[in-house]
Amino acid sequence: MKELEDRIRRDGTVKPGDVLKVDAFLNHQCDVTLFDHMGAEWARIFAGKKIDKILTIEASGIGIACIAAQHFGNVPVVFAKKTQSINLDGDQYTARVYSYTKQKEFPVIVSKRFLTEGEHVLLIDDFLANGKAMHGLIDICKEAGVVIEGIGIAIEKGFQRGGKELREAGYDVASLAIVKAMDGEKGTVEFA
Ligand code: 5GP
Repeated sequence: MKELEDRIRRDGTVKPGDVLKVDAFLNHQCDVTLFDHMGAEWARIFAGKKIDKILTIEASGIGIACIAAQHFGNVPVVFAKKTQSINLDGDQYTARVYSYTKQKEFPVIVSKRFLTEGEHVLLIDDFLANGKAMHGLIDICKEAGVVIEGIGIAIEKGFQRGGKELREAGYDVASLAIVKAMDGEKGTVEFA
């Protein structure tokens, strides 16, 4: 998606540890017009698929997913919550996710009330790097018995393994911008 690539080139910065900072428009300050165009693009890509619900992960996925939902007939958006502790009374699905940016593992939960067996779900997130966050959401979907129709990603770092692994596993992954390489010193970002 050229508009997103241009925006990354203009307002993104490359940080140490292969981190792309896009907080000026994606995950701190939010450009809702850009989000709207991203939602339209996912709707075009996933046209013809039955989507009952969008599942994302807090915090950065929420805004993107909510705007995208407007392009999928205003389906509900559920976000997995990051939590310190897991309650064991069985009313929630849980998975453990290793955070790329925070470099620690944490549990994520979704209430069983908000995912129903047989529902068709689209997964959305802001970044795909090593795929840990997505695998956490997939684990929750498997436990809930929902059908994963596709995975919509804003920015995939194509030089990390997450996207390749998910596609090899058969998931329909639509990344709107795929970063092939980035150079922190020159401040350049190259797209696939
Ligand atoms: P993964 O789980 O695929 O390794 O990493 C995806 C998650 O880590 C995303 O939810 C995102 O919040 C965060 N993340 C990974 N790489 C980057 C990055 O380069 N920049 C930013 N801002 N977040 C990232």
